[in-house]
Amino acid sequence: MMVMLEDVKTQPKLEAIIQKEGPLFDVIIIGGGPAGLTAAIYCGRARLKTLLIEKALLGGLASTTFLIENYPGFPEGISGIELGNKLEAQARKAGCDIYYGEATGITISKNKKVVEIEKHRLETKVIILATGTEPKKLGIKGEEELRGRGVSYCATCDGPFYRDKSIVVVGGGNSAVEEAIFLTRYAQKITIVHRRDKLRADKILAERAINHPKIFILWDSEIEEVIGKARVEQVVIKNLKTEARSKLAADGVFFYAGSSPNSKLIKGLVKLDEAGYILTDEELRTNVPGVFAAGDIRKKCLKQVVTAAGDGALAAESARRFIEE
Ligand code: NAP
Repeated sequence: MMVMLEDVKTQPKLEAIIQKEGPLFDVIIIGGGPAGLTAAIYCGRARLKTLLIEKALLGGLASTTFLIENYPGFPEGISGIELGNKLEAQARKAGCDIYYGEATGITISKNKKVVEIEKHRLETKVIILATGTEPKKLGIKGEEELRGRGVSYCATCDGPFYRDKSIVVVGGGNSAVEEAIFLTRYAQKITIVHRRDKLRADKILAERAINHPKIFILWDSEIEEVIGKARVEQVVIKNLKTEARSKLAADGVFFYAGSSPNSKLIKGLVKLDEAGYILTDEELRTNVPGVFAAGDIRKKCLKQVVTAAGDGALAAESARRFIEE
């Protein structure tokens, strides 16, 4: 998802932020999802000189969710975009600087932490890594070739193009099931293709999907190929129990087969697990003093907006203590 041109045009120049805040930041937060933005709110309120950098969309992956129904305090749910906007407003109100740009390098020596953004090398006492995840690619034939021409990873963005069409959704987790339910607003038929015989999604969502008249579930099945010339036309499905292959006509395929960590920037910098998620202790310290991690980028068992927000608050508090000590 792209940053709105308006935002880029109206945002202050990085030079202006540096001039206002001086050459040394207390905290640089990389990533503007719920974890990074909550850290920004807490850092700002602690009067730490804080800069948050986001390369795509404030609100993170959660902002591509049409309706977040399990964030406390919103009994009717809240749209991902609205929550992102509110978090941004709260972070700015707390005094945090926000910059749309890409951190391209981090260097850490004994007494110095430097984050490279564009042509600038910004020095900071603490770094909070909140780079989150991105949708996992399955790497099957046709997935990349037909991306944007029927292959999608964002139902909220692309769903309206599928009015009265047939859609395939891949995966059985919360994202797949939630977005399949969202797509019933537009599509005439949605087929969830799931590799097991049980959905991983929360029971409340699973029940809704199973009972929905527009949703059909193909259990024990995987997609092997997406076929189409100008656009998606069919998918090849393999039944994992019988090994039988069949073709299913589809106008679109939405992949929700989990996520991969955005850890390119931090490889070799902090300790990661074998899948690329950052290892932290209970106070969200990484193995490098003064570098903390928050949200989906760290190894943890429950990845939700509410836990990301909790991480952001804790990382900010740990950062504050680190600076004071
Ligand atoms: P997820 O929970 O990891 O689910 C990924 C799904 O894709 C699983 O059903 C998995 O199958 C399937 N899958 C993985 N690799 C596959 C492959 N190679 N081929 C076919 N299928 C494959 O990911 P997610 O749904 O994106 O959610 C990510 C995190 O965000 C989770 O912690 C989730 O709870 C959270 N989230 C929460 C909400 C909410 O609470 N409303 C909404 C969205 C996301 P198996 O089940 O067999 O492993």
